[in-house]
Amino acid sequence: MFVISCPWCGPREQREFSYGGEAHIVRPRNADELTDEAWADYLFMRKNPKGLHYERWVHSHGCRRWFNVARNTATDEILAVYRMGEAPPDLPGQQPPTPCGEPAIGSGNKAIDADGLTGTGR
Ligand SMILES: [Zn+2]
Repeated sequence: MFVISCPWCGPREQREFSYGGEAHIVRPRNADELTDEAWADYLFMRKNPKGLHYERWVHSHGCRRWFNVARNTATDEILAVYRMGEAPPDLPGQQPPTPCGEPAIGSGNKAIDADGLTGTGR
């Protein structure tokens, strides 16, 4: 059990929250142009690190809002909490998150971030 600080409600016990998977997954805009392998990669392939992991959480027994968490999966230490649409914070000595999933196909296409914001397919 650990404490998560909801960006809107403040610190609460983990049991008030629900895990929503890896953060910063880029959704391909032209999914019908993807190969089966690329689509399967987007749907199913996720990082499973021991250490820093960027995750989505929802305060399901509180404000019901989604937000992102940078958490050390080995120690459950919360390194950062930030709202959807905000850039991940710079964490000293840590790599910023890199999105999973196939980037958009074709020139000029943009992908939609899991946050629902138009991204660049970073
Ligand atoms: Zn909340």
